[in-house]
Amino acid sequence: MSVAVEESGPPAWRLLLGYVRPHRWALVGGALLSLMTGATGLMLPLVARELIDDLSGDRAITGALLLMSALVVANAVLGALGSYVLRRTAESVVLGARRSLSSYLLRLRITAVDRSEPGDLMARITSDTTLLREVTTDSLVGLGTGGLTLVATVVLMGFVDPVLLGVTLGVIAAAGTVLGVIVPRINRASRRAQDAVGVMGASLERVLGALRTVKASGAEPREERTLHEAAQESWRQSVRAAKWSAAAGNTAGLAMQIAFITVLAVGGARVATEAIDIGTLVAFLLFVFYLMSPIQQVVGAITQYQTGSAALARIQEALRLPAEPAAGPVELPAPGTAPAALAFTDVRFRYADDLPYVHHGVTFTVPAQGMTAFVGPSGAGKTTVFSLIERFYDPESGVIALDGRDLADWELSRLRAAIGYVEQDAPVLSGSLRDNLLLGNPEADDATVTRVLKTTRLDGLVSRLPDGLDTLVGHRGTKLSGGERQRVAIARALLRRPRLLLLDEATSQLDAVNEAALRDTVADVARTTTVLVVAHRLSTVTMADRIVVMDAGRVRAVGTHRELVTADPLYAELAATQFLATGE
Ligand code: ADP
Ligand code: MG
Repeated sequence: MSVAVEESGPPAWRLLLGYVRPHRWALVGGALLSLMTGATGLMLPLVARELIDDLSGDRAITGALLLMSALVVANAVLGALGSYVLRRTAESVVLGARRSLSSYLLRLRITAVDRSEPGDLMARITSDTTLLREVTTDSLVGLGTGGLTLVATVVLMGFVDPVLLGVTLGVIAAAGTVLGVIVPRINRASRRAQDAVGVMGASLERVLGALRTVKASGAEPREERTLHEAAQESWRQSVRAAKWSAAAGNTAGLAMQIAFITVLAVGGARVATEAIDIGTLVAFLLFVFYLMSPIQQVVGAITQYQTGSAALARIQEALRLPAEPAAGPVELPAPGTAPAALAFTDVRFRYADDLPYVHHGVTFTVPAQGMTAFVGPSGAGKTTVFSLIERFYDPESGVIALDGRDLADWELSRLRAAIGYVEQDAPVLSGSLRDNLLLGNPEADDATVTRVLKTTRLDGLVSRLPDGLDTLVGHRGTKLSGGERQRVAIARALLRRPRLLLLDEATSQLDAVNEAALRDTVADVARTTTVLVVAHRLSTVTMADRIVVMDAGRVRAVGTHRELVTADPLYAELAATQFLATGE
């Protein structure tokens, strides 16, 4: 529900086989061990019969006793080994699915994330993959070993009496029709149960991500209800799946009893007309009994697969979300270290086909080096300019060029390596301060870190913290103030040594002293880097080499503060109201 993709695509079993393929020999080995365990078990009665027959003699007793002991030990060892190998293989299948899914989700396009619930995607990696364990062992191995035994038994039955086999298969076919109705219901209920787990994940993520607001709004009872309802729904659907699974198992059992009675009746008539002898009938009835266990196994495999395929379908949906290309082998020129030049040419963009345009033909150029400020009313499309530069989205038409080369021509990771980006809401990740600072450049040396801490005025904070740089900042940096978070985000971007620095209202929460200090730092950086700032303070704007005034998805004017105050009425108004409102 919260992942917006269509239902089509290859069947779930294809995906399962993809995950199982690397482990196919281990799986076959495990299945063979299981079959051998069964065989050693079946041999025991035969040897026992030999032993009893030979009791009158004397020679073979010790041999038979030794053989029996060997069989018992082999049975135990093979059984243990088989179940270990199967379980281990199943865990490897889960591991493979989790790995590929995590890698994929990290590469998701921002558009895909815009349309999904992160908590639901999380549930797909954690909860849905877990279900593949049972599918691998119970379904695949069950179908393999059960199916093999079934075929062998049916062939033997055909040799004993084809007519009675026909009768048996007729009953089985009737049961199959009933199962055909039941089995899809297991799938549907399982799917709903897993979806409800996804809803729980999404709901938990939403609540825990904004716990302060939830508490301050007194919204706990409502959120609690949502969580309980999702849990209840998962229970209800799982119980429904259990009901249909039980019905399926017992349908198979019932079918075998009916087959037994029918064979007895038809076989009795055939004995009466002397079509077969009584020994054949008895043998056939024994076979009908032998058929029971593999049929139960195959039906179990099918019902188990229904649960698994519901999970597989959810995994498949996640894998169908649009993702960015993995770093390809295409060798594109590596961006240099010089400041980058940037140009937007008639860029048209909207966030989705059914949403209005956010950029209606945006055009501007930014020469290498220096500071360019973007101003304009909220909603003008300033943040979107930055999102397009990072290629979180691609324009519908028009060209964005870095150093005269279309952004689409750069390998994505290299393009982003050239850019330092401080988002509008300056997120800080949970972990230590050091983790946060080195996020974009784990190799930065201590001297550089110290220097950047100084320029971003974080050195005082670090020396005050009990564990210095190793202090944990809490989920989303909750242990830091808004201004501190912004400075951490700026320091993080600077440590990347970017050629292009994007600051989106990055100093909105700083006090006047820190803001002035950072302004000097940014001016300093702009001497060797191209700096783009979405500005909200007059002091920043007046310092910029050029100002781009945006309104309603268009560039209205470009110029310096002095020029624009007289030339552009909107700018003059912004300067008079918005900038002055910040106390300057
Ligand atoms: P600004 O930064 O100038 O305030 P934005 O570039 O953030 O403006 O937003 C421009 C318009 O695009 C706004 O109307 C906003 O509602 C819309 N918008 C921004 N982000 C998204 C998104 N992820 N999906 C859909 N619409 C969006
Ligand atoms: Mg913005």
